[in-house]
Amino acid sequence: MSAAQLLIRGGLVADPASAIVEPRDILIEGTRIVALGAPGSIAEPRARIHGASNRLILPAFVNAHTHGHSNLVKGIADRWTLEASLTNGPWLAGARDTETIYLSALLGALDMLSKGCVSCFDLVYEFPLPTKAGFAAVARAYADAGMKAVLAPMVADKTLFTAIPGLLDSLPEDLRKTVSQFDLGSADATIAAIEEIAAARDDLPDGIDLAIAPTIPHHCSEDFLARCIDLAERYDLPIHMHIAESRLQATTARKLWGVSPVRYLADRGVLRPGFVAAHGVWLKHDDLDILAEHQCSVAHIPASNFRLGSGMAYVRAMLDRGINVGLATDGANSSDAMSMLQAMRLASYASRGFSGPRDKWLGAAETLRLATRGGADLAGFKHAGRMEAGADADLVFFDLDHLDFVPLTDPINQIVTAADSASVREVMANGRMVLSNGRFTAIDTSGLRERVRDTVLRLSAKLADARPLAARLEPHVVAFVDKASEEPLDIERFVNPREKIT
Ligand SMILES: [Zn+2]
Repeated sequence: MSAAQLLIRGGLVADPASAIVEPRDILIEGTRIVALGAPGSIAEPRARIHGASNRLILPAFVNAHTHGHSNLVKGIADRWTLEASLTNGPWLAGARDTETIYLSALLGALDMLSKGCVSCFDLVYEFPLPTKAGFAAVARAYADAGMKAVLAPMVADKTLFTAIPGLLDSLPEDLRKTVSQFDLGSADATIAAIEEIAAARDDLPDGIDLAIAPTIPHHCSEDFLARCIDLAERYDLPIHMHIAESRLQATTARKLWGVSPVRYLADRGVLRPGFVAAHGVWLKHDDLDILAEHQCSVAHIPASNFRLGSGMAYVRAMLDRGINVGLATDGANSSDAMSMLQAMRLASYASRGFSGPRDKWLGAAETLRLATRGGADLAGFKHAGRMEAGADADLVFFDLDHLDFVPLTDPINQIVTAADSASVREVMANGRMVLSNGRFTAIDTSGLRERVRDTVLRLSAKLADARPLAARLEPHVVAFVDKASEEPLDIERFVNPREKIT
């Protein structure tokens, strides 16, 4: 017997690939789109009908880079730089039991779903070490919400303070002593934990897969990185790393290795098809050539880059080289809204911040492609992010009666420039409605607010020491980075946050 059929009738359907927006009916069988056609042209008497008049229908968005652990700290960071954020890392992810880990990931999943995103790449962080139980809790959260996800244990064998030359020495003596006692867990224990997670890959729920994220090149010793790559090869895991996110990361690479982080990784055989470079703000053209040559993807994360004052990635130069780019939100501690709509708007607008002709800007249809197929290809969701027969039935339905679309002039442009999540009415993931009339249907969310509040209170009590320590460290770290950022760097074409305004 064939799978149940659903005929979505009367909608205005946008295809990011062609940028064509026209009335079409969509036939869904099981988890896939099986046909698209002019209104009334699909005759399928057995199909259940779903009326979609007054709806603009798009492929659901794919979030190319997030961190499920940070949803419980949404809104917490005001003027944090990346390094300030990393200083706060231990308490942002520490002292968690599996139910807390589950709840944090679920909260983010629901946030993304409510804004039209049904799949993501999550770099899963547990402090001090990844655990099989914690990882399984994150997997369960995404599966319960109805999302697809690639989950990568995010790991390192150095702390921020041991990774950055000179930082430890810049601290007052009492703080230096405290920080020297930070225990990340040994490289052996971390590798063993990932191995245990990888060995249980077949137990992951449907739609959830595994990758590996040695987080930042200089936060990993050469030996540790090599062991991560060995795991990636033995278990066939995609590799996802933060690359040249901040100016300090670019200067640190040159200080440590005399080359850019991309060159360093290429020389060690880390780059390969399927490798994801997150951020890629402080890269030179020859770095982009190397990424293109190795068929790597880039996760472009403008909200986070703006939020942390990291600078702006030059996406046009990536696309010109044929590098696949997926759009992303990052975690809620650096991109609080978790909104792919916001990511699209910021990506499009940021591209106009580089002086240059307008044909270098990201147009609306191109930006929408990055938020759909770009992310899907990056994460290995082969059939997601597409509006075509054979694609995953992952759809987002916008309300054309909403003021975002009144008057309706150029629907794709209005998605990028005008729409926010208030006009998202229904969301379908793998052929199943997970949001209907603005309400979650796959999971009971009653009492969620109270559960989150109680969990956050419990966590705050457990972290009574860790958070004040980070608050004491933070000004020293920021002062060190400010000074280090004055060191020369041979990257000039990027908009430089330190450029003097004359
Ligand atoms: Zn990240």
